[in-house]
Amino acid sequence: MKKAEQQFRTECLAGLHRAQALRTELIGLSARTIDEALDRYNQLLTAASSSNALAGLMSEVHPDEAIRDVARECEQEVSKFYSALALDREMYDALAAVDVSAADADTQRFHAHTLRDYRRAGVDRPLEVRTRLETIDEELTKLGQTFSKTISEDVRGIEITDPARLAGLPADFIASHPPDDDGKIKITTDYPDYNPFMTYAADDALRQDLYIAFRSRGDQGNEEILTQILTLRAEKASLLGYPNWADYITADKMIGSGERAAEFLERVWKLAAPRAEQDYTELLRQLKTVDPKATKVADWQKVWLENLVKRDRYEVDASEVRQYFPYPRVLAGLLEITSEIFELSYRPVSVIDAPPWHATVLTYDVIRGGERIGRIYLDMHPRDGKYKHAAQFPLKDGVRGTQLPEGVLVCNFPQPSPTDPGLLEHDDVVTMFHEFGHLMHHVLGGHQRWITQSGVATEWDFVEAPSQMFEEWAWRHDTLARFARHHTTGEVIPEALVENMRRADKFGLGTATVQQIFYAAISLGFHRADPATLDQLVEVKRLQKKYTPFAYVPGTRFHASFGHLVGYSAMYYTYQWSLVIAKDLLTPFASRGLMATDVTYAYRDKVLVPGGSRDAAELVKDFLGRDYDFTAYERFLVEA
Ligand SMILES: [Zn+2]
Repeated sequence: MKKAEQQFRTECLAGLHRAQALRTELIGLSARTIDEALDRYNQLLTAASSSNALAGLMSEVHPDEAIRDVARECEQEVSKFYSALALDREMYDALAAVDVSAADADTQRFHAHTLRDYRRAGVDRPLEVRTRLETIDEELTKLGQTFSKTISEDVRGIEITDPARLAGLPADFIASHPPDDDGKIKITTDYPDYNPFMTYAADDALRQDLYIAFRSRGDQGNEEILTQILTLRAEKASLLGYPNWADYITADKMIGSGERAAEFLERVWKLAAPRAEQDYTELLRQLKTVDPKATKVADWQKVWLENLVKRDRYEVDASEVRQYFPYPRVLAGLLEITSEIFELSYRPVSVIDAPPWHATVLTYDVIRGGERIGRIYLDMHPRDGKYKHAAQFPLKDGVRGTQLPEGVLVCNFPQPSPTDPGLLEHDDVVTMFHEFGHLMHHVLGGHQRWITQSGVATEWDFVEAPSQMFEEWAWRHDTLARFARHHTTGEVIPEALVENMRRADKFGLGTATVQQIFYAAISLGFHRADPATLDQLVEVKRLQKKYTPFAYVPGTRFHASFGHLVGYSAMYYTYQWSLVIAKDLLTPFASRGLMATDVTYAYRDKVLVPGGSRDAAELVKDFLGRDYDFTAYERFLVEA
């Protein structure tokens, strides 16, 4: 092992070693008081989480492959520690002995949830069961890593020899994809290639090829890994007394059970299906303008046709819209808006004080009321071996009096250069706002005493709601006008264009929603089925037919690159579930607009700042002045 790798390994494992030492100390305590035992336990979790976060982040973003490998090893070590801790009977007994009857509500909640999670892990089961559970968790971590790694590294693509076949694609895309020495133009399955190609390329056969390449990533190899994952999860659920993994994993979530999740999906699907049929008819009509004999729309034509319908019927051409979104302006606008609505400022941190893992990463301290309340890192552009999606990664979970929250945005937006303005699709702008919503939640909510109540550590199926809600700020003229200017003329984005974009966005909502239901049904269904008899491909075909108007495309194996099956397992439904809440959270803004600071401050203080210190349903009720309901979501889904 080289020096840099050795150094990283030491740094990465430091928290874990401290956590191990704290465990020994805690078990040896004679007085099991809140200050002695619970505080130490909190420190232990904080130490372990710093190793875990650093390893989790670096395994996805470090430019050096050898360091990414060390980070993955470190992640496995931490995960092993967590599995052992979750089943640590001595620790459970020590914590259960702490008397919290006179403590504050946060402390009582921390104590009660800690013991509940211990029981959910199986700490009260016989030794041989606990041993088996530990082995299962270790195996699952390794398999999950393999599954994800394959998706990141299995970059496929198509080669084009005739440049005329790039017709329809924007000039900057063509300019950045010149033929190589052999005269071949390579288009990969990475998003900065894939998304524009599927949206704009006029060549139907090439879109089909790229679609199949994209949906073949992972392939049979990952399908086999997935079988092993599903089998181990089913065994774990059974050992813990649940009929299947879906029931086990949802038991402590807002939704409560696999059955209720399935009912929820059916309810949303029934609402969205008529709209999806209308969308499909419209796409087919559009297809017939170029191919009069067409009788059906293929999945690889959907995005391209949607763009054409939007351009023709709603006068929205995505290639025109993107002229208003050069990356540097969007970022500046996002920082300005969040400063205003949350009363914050961002102070750049010099690379000398804190050198980031890559030269393009921007670091800011977040300041509120003159005080530093956290730090954010923006790692926004693609590079080899880096995570392919957009996500917020924690680097430090905030713990009051111990450490400030630090979070990282990991995205793959085009990188501006002297010859390239780095134009974003409007979808990218929405993604940037979405992920920043997670970052704000992490930073603003990261000031609890107990780490398991810090920031985004709320119920799993609530986590997306604040981010989905914050997308709205990327959809209104009064907020967009603050930063969206044409990159050559400087013209502010016209209000009529934004209104058209909003109307156009509703086109395709039906097909997009049923597509989400299809994905959620895979995620839930795979985890309710018996893995021994589940034929994944057959099931995916069946669900696609049941829920979406688009036929399965032979040669594809979507589930083999469905990365969320690792982290979300059965819970992909959460995107739709939290959207119900997100739409409701917007109702107080209806009359006052999104920049009404009395409303944004109330939202900040009642929903984001408390983090996970109370049930999400209570926080939402506090802000809305009533329980959340389906009304706003149904209106959103049904209205034109
Ligand atoms: Zn999200």
